[in-house]
Amino acid sequence: MAHCIVPAAELILDKEFKVLDKGFVRMVDYFGSDQRIVQAARVSYGDGTKSISEDEALIDYLIRHQHTSPFEQVVFTFHLKMPIFIARQWMRHRMGRMNEMSGRLSVMKEEFYIPSIENMDPQCKDKLERALTPLDADEAKAIQKDFEKGQKKSYESYKSLIEKGLAREIARINLPLSTYTEFYWQMDLNNLFRFLKLRLDSHAQLEMREYAKIILELIKTVCPMACDSFENCILKSVSFNGKEIAALRKVMAGEANPLSGKELDRFLTKFRSGQQL
Ligand SMILES: Cc1cc2nc3c(=O)[nH]c(=O)nc-3n(C[C@H](O)[C@H](O)[C@H](O)COP(=O)(O)OP(=O)(O)OC[C@H]3O[C@@H](n4cnc5c(N)ncnc54)[C@H](O)[C@@H]3O)c2cc1C
Repeated sequence: MAHCIVPAAELILDKEFKVLDKGFVRMVDYFGSDQRIVQAARVSYGDGTKSISEDEALIDYLIRHQHTSPFEQVVFTFHLKMPIFIARQWMRHRMGRMNEMSGRLSVMKEEFYIPSIENMDPQCKDKLERALTPLDADEAKAIQKDFEKGQKKSYESYKSLIEKGLAREIARINLPLSTYTEFYWQMDLNNLFRFLKLRLDSHAQLEMREYAKIILELIKTVCPMACDSFENCILKSVSFNGKEIAALRKVMAGEANPLSGKELDRFLTKFRSGQQL
């Protein structure tokens, strides 16, 4: 089978999907589809003899058995706009290929992220958890104003340094992490699933999760069967360590749970932590 064209994906290709206050995700291109995964896995059998339900079962089998190579045959290119502090987390996914706008070649735009009132949580004891009680709305509004003031001040200083003739690469160094950046990003489906598992988790930063949610919806148009299996077998799954499996066996046999303290807390949390999208 030559180039895959998926009508549902063609409809949304190149459209901007808004994220946060000024960001977006745009699926620029895709290469492959569910059919390409199946075709790659059945390389020795050829295509056209299997029904859709058999294709679905094959994709599910591949995901369940971590036979990941056929998923690397599907590739996506996105155009993303996000604050620099999120882009820094994004870049840690090293299997992605990217090309970012340059603050050396172009003048940075006056575009900064301001978190909404609901996104301004107090610091939680567990640093990667979100606080249960949000900040008081008036306090959050005052912080928004403070952010705005700082951003305006740093952009004014940036602009005046540019006007004085300072090199753009130096003039930009006091711009904050909330400054928006843009980049093209390419990732294969296997590594994209890995990215989504990590970044849709409740421990990932909320702003990052907002981008990851949209990416999942966009790639569903290209490979709905693979995404369905991913959601069921990986995204909504949890893993248990040896002690936890032993405890599960005891509980299922009607015996008392041998775990206690933090081990018990972590064990019980797992029953609440499977992704519920
Ligand atoms: C909640 C959370 C908190 C985090 N906190 C931090 C933090 O404080 N500081 C920080 O620096 N990062 C942090 N990270 C990033 C994290 O450590 C990973 O770098 C990131 O999630 C990318 O995962 P990855 O390596 O699996 O993906 P990719 O980089 O896309 O790599 C995919 C796979 O390829 C292989 N691979 C890629 N590059 C290499 C390499 N150079 N050598 C060997 N194998 C390689 C690995 O098997 C890897 O699993 C955090 C991530 C999350 C989700």
